[in-house]
Amino acid sequence: MIGGSLGGLTAALLLRDMGADIHVYERSPHELVQRGAGIGFLPESQRYLTTRAGVALDDIAIATGHIRYLDREGRVVHDERHDYRFSSWNTVYRQLFACVKPDMYHLGHEMIDWQSGDDTVRVDFRNGTQVEADVVVFADGVNSVARQRLLPDAQPNYAGYVAWRGMVHESELSTDTFEMLDDAITYHVYANSHILVYPIPGIDGEIERGRRLFNFVWYRNYMSGSDLDDLMTDNDGTLREISMPPGSVSPRHVNEMRAVAAARLPRPIADVVCGAEQPFVQVIYDLAISKMAFGRTCLLGDAAFIARPHAAAGTAKAADDAWSLVESLETYTDVTEALVAYEAKQLVVGRNLMERTQRIGRRSQFDGTWTPGDPELIFGLKAPGQ
Ligand SMILES: Cc1cc2nc3c(=O)[nH]c(=O)nc-3n(C[C@H](O)[C@H](O)[C@H](O)COP(=O)(O)OP(=O)(O)OC[C@H]3O[C@@H](n4cnc5c(N)ncnc54)[C@H](O)[C@@H]3O)c2cc1C
Repeated sequence: MIGGSLGGLTAALLLRDMGADIHVYERSPHELVQRGAGIGFLPESQRYLTTRAGVALDDIAIATGHIRYLDREGRVVHDERHDYRFSSWNTVYRQLFACVKPDMYHLGHEMIDWQSGDDTVRVDFRNGTQVEADVVVFADGVNSVARQRLLPDAQPNYAGYVAWRGMVHESELSTDTFEMLDDAITYHVYANSHILVYPIPGIDGEIERGRRLFNFVWYRNYMSGSDLDDLMTDNDGTLREISMPPGSVSPRHVNEMRAVAAARLPRPIADVVCGAEQPFVQVIYDLAISKMAFGRTCLLGDAAFIARPHAAAGTAKAADDAWSLVESLETYTDVTEALVAYEAKQLVVGRNLMERTQRIGRRSQFDGTWTPGDPELIFGLKAPGQ
């Protein structure tokens, strides 16, 4: 397994459970940390932990019961009953990582090359190590080096906007703000933008009231070229392509973002945005591919399709790829046939998710046709609500 984030870990654990001698090779020299970014936590993302690892959903995710929209003055203009679960990247990673035996997960292993033979694949790492495996799964994320080599024409397309993100401790919010945001995902939609706020576990996974965080995701348009490049140039002057981690966004942009929030967003939402200490930025991309299986190797998760986050389904897609891969490997004795069967199923899932989330994003950021209560906006991997 190349890449040891949520997709790679889930697939590795499932392969281990089916009896494979599986090893995960992760580029990062340290255990991964994403400083708490929230995730809509769909059933596919919950599945390994709740069905195989004996983890109770209530211990790792917050339940909310409403979808709420606020107008500019902070009045509720739409409120519907809908149950969601929210967690955070750290919380889920920590739980999956706890299921892994130490000799199965190898940090500091950046894959730089591989050679496919008839019966095995040889993988080379930057640290000089070489390994041979029967099957290699590339779960190396948005910037997958495997995808770049296997499908050089498949390039991520900038969607025209980024997600500004951040978290604030719920104990730091005023009572009025907390009461407005509690038990809900709360939206505000305006010309060429939308923002959403929801509760997530604390940095160390705390789910008790009073110790949780509120997370915001604010989609804002930036023209490609100098507009985007200026935002994505970090404090050290380095131009970043995919994301600006907490603490790296220039104070000029953070100040601009907070000033717009204070002037333009409903008060409870602006309180969350302005209260976030180290906001960060993720650029939104689309990428569809035509193949996921290549002999004894395959792509999985964001290394395959990149879908915009509007269905809250990125980690669910990676987990669904993992379950589907293992089902195919259990069904077929021939590995290459199994990978072709995996590809046939998951190409459909990836393509549908990408097209659905592209449509939703266009409606919000460019067409101005996003209406509260529209069933298409419900989160879900394979369809809204599913
Ligand atoms: C704004 C935003 C909001 C989102 N919200 C949600 C949400 O609400 N719910 C949800 O489910 N998803 C959400 N997502 C999507 C989700 O974060 C991703 O889809 C998911 O993390 C993909 O997991 P992955 O394991 O495929 O890839 P990644 O998490 O990108 O992991 C790839 C791993 O591979 C490693 N790696 C890379 N190259 C190499 C190499 N050469 N050798 C070895 N290792 C390597 C990396 O270090 C990394 O650990 C959101 C995404 C964005 C941008």
